[in-house]
Amino acid sequence: MKGDMYIACSSEKEIIEKAEHGGAITSLLKFALKSGRVDSVLAIKARGGDRYDGIPFLITNPEELVETAGSLHCSSVNIPRFLKEYLDGAASQKIAVTVKPCDAKAIIELAKRGQITLDNLLLIGVNCTGTLLPTKAKKMMEEEFGVDPADVIAEDIEDNKLILRLNNGTEKELELATLEQKGYGRRENCRRCTSNIPTMADIAGGKWGTTDRKSTFIEVFSDKGAELIRAAIKAEALDVDPPENEAIKTRRQKDEAASKLAYQWQQQDLAENNAMSNDEKFDYWFQQFGKCVKCYGCRDACPICYCKDCILEADRSLVPGGEVPPDDMFPLIRITHVMDSCVNCGQCQDACPMEIPLSRLIFMLNRELFDIFKYEPGTDMSQLPPLQSVTEEELTMESVEIAF
Ligand code: SF4
Ligand code: SF4
Repeated sequence: MKGDMYIACSSEKEIIEKAEHGGAITSLLKFALKSGRVDSVLAIKARGGDRYDGIPFLITNPEELVETAGSLHCSSVNIPRFLKEYLDGAASQKIAVTVKPCDAKAIIELAKRGQITLDNLLLIGVNCTGTLLPTKAKKMMEEEFGVDPADVIAEDIEDNKLILRLNNGTEKELELATLEQKGYGRRENCRRCTSNIPTMADIAGGKWGTTDRKSTFIEVFSDKGAELIRAAIKAEALDVDPPENEAIKTRRQKDEAASKLAYQWQQQDLAENNAMSNDEKFDYWFQQFGKCVKCYGCRDACPICYCKDCILEADRSLVPGGEVPPDDMFPLIRITHVMDSCVNCGQCQDACPMEIPLSRLIFMLNRELFDIFKYEPGTDMSQLPPLQSVTEEELTMESVEIAF
């Protein structure tokens, strides 16, 4: 049932050897596919074995699941967008999909907009305290850790340290805060993120609450998730034990510590902006927009942007074509379309060739809107995005001021 917790590991030797933390997630995915609960599994694998180039991988043969075992911290694959664009939003097949918290949130937002069929999805969540940009990560490994990125077989974040595991069996670690103050470490949006455990998925698994790197702590968040794990245990696909109270406590404390750090980053990221007058803020952000080359990368990457007939296209009258930078309406329209539902996934900022801090701006605006509407994107299917569902009461409010 919802709320059930397990310390779990795979019962398959091959998966245990290849996976991290006992391979419970890989085995659950394999069981879901083998038992016919889903038609396919959408997971991530390293393209050509390159750990810095993760790609979405759709699997229909359960024996291929082992290829996705292990985590790729230096890839942030746009799973929600891939589901929507290339898999028909799961309208015609049942899919089990591995999701970080921001992926799960974006999928829920897309489901609210009729772009994804949530009933056909089994969301297998993985705890996340952040991903790294691959090029920056490689540079950091060379310059800060003094290691060849090709020798790294795994990364881990534990007790505010970034740990690299090397192919010679050794480990190297450095303080995460020191690396991040130097501009390395996690992606900017990840540093700000307070959702470490994907509670909006059907189940979530992670290492917190385990001590031996040979098992995964799993929590169930839906009836669908509960049925899956019960059946997997019965079929002996998983070995499980109930967690000790101490393990539950440790997991909660680690979650709280990670969230506390994220709130500190939010304050730091926003402090500079908050120190500016309104005029200075407008000057700063319109200067940023002035760098835009209208490549549409942010729009095409954003999982919340879903209009098939986009009013930002050059043949539409709102933003004249043939101008770079585009008219100010271009960034303003895009921002206002997504700011109530932004899930802080950072895909827009990753895609921007001009390095405009888009996700920081939209995150700030989203938090302003949260203070007004109390709408937390991607958490509750029954809550509708506030800017698309204005109530009579809100219509009669005299004014709502949102400042950059
Ligand atoms: Fe993600 Fe950027 Fe879209 Fe927000 S605006 S959901 S950070 S891509
Ligand atoms: Fe402009 Fe950057 Fe968006 Fe491209 S990704 S359209 S440069 S803001």
